[in-house]
Amino acid sequence: MRSRIEALSCRDATRLVTLYLGAQLGKRPTLRLRAHLAACEECTEHYRASVHLTASIGRSRNNDRRTVHRALRKHRFARLAAGLNGRGKSPFWQLRLVLYPALLLLLVTQVVRKTVSAGADCLQVAGEVHVGIEALEAGARAPLFPGAWCRTEPGGSAHLSGAIAAELGTDTAVLIESLTPPRVRLASGELELSGAARVSTALGIVTLEAGDARVGLRAGVLTVATRDGQVRFLGPDGARDVAPGRPLTVTE
Ligand SMILES: [Zn+2]
Repeated sequence: MRSRIEALSCRDATRLVTLYLGAQLGKRPTLRLRAHLAACEECTEHYRASVHLTASIGRSRNNDRRTVHRALRKHRFARLAAGLNGRGKSPFWQLRLVLYPALLLLLVTQVVRKTVSAGADCLQVAGEVHVGIEALEAGARAPLFPGAWCRTEPGGSAHLSGAIAAELGTDTAVLIESLTPPRVRLASGELELSGAARVSTALGIVTLEAGDARVGLRAGVLTVATRDGQVRFLGPDGARDVAPGRPLTVTE
C-alpha cells in the first residue's frame, strides 16, 4: 500500500482507474492518477488488467455489432425472399419498369386499332352518290364520320364499309350517327345491313345483333326483314323481335 503520492490512496486510485477508462475523469484527477501509477506498481498492474478487460469488452461489443449487422442483413434477405425488402416494396414492384410500358403499348395499340376499325367509308357502286354535298366520282370512295350523310340519287347505289357494313339502295339517305358502336339514321330508302348495327328511323329503332337485316322506309312505311339475323324493333308500342322470313311492317 503506497498512498503517499498527493494523498491519493491505492483505493482511490483504483476507483479513478475505472473512471479514467470510462473517459469520465477530469484533467486534475487524471494527472494525480498518472502520478500515482508512475509510483505504484500494484495500481499500474490493476490499470493494465483493467485496460485489457475494457479492450476485450470493446471487442466483444464490436463482435456483437457485427453479429447484429449479420442478423440484420439476413433479416433483410429473408424479407426480400419473402417478397419484401427493407423499404417495404416488393421485388415485383421492379416489374413496373417492364409492365407499365407494356401496358401503355397495349393501350395505344388498342386505341389505334379501334380508331382504324372505327373508320368507315361510302363507296359509289352505281348512279349518282353524294357524301355530304360532295358528289362521288364513279367507283370513288369517301370517308364517313359521325354527322356525315351518304345519299344515293334515284337509280344510284352505294356500299358502306368499315365500322358499318351496308348497301344503300336507290334514292336512299343515311346519316352516320356513330361509328363505335355503329349507328346510322335512315331518312328514307333501303338499307341492307350485315353485322351488328343500329338503325334509327322516324318510326322506331332497328337493332341488328348479328347476321343480316333489310330496313326500308318509304312514304311513312317502315319494313324490317331478315334472313338469318337477330333483329329487334323498338317503336312507340314497345319492342318486338323480327323473325327470319317474317318481315315487319310499321306504319305511321
Ligand atoms: Zn497504488
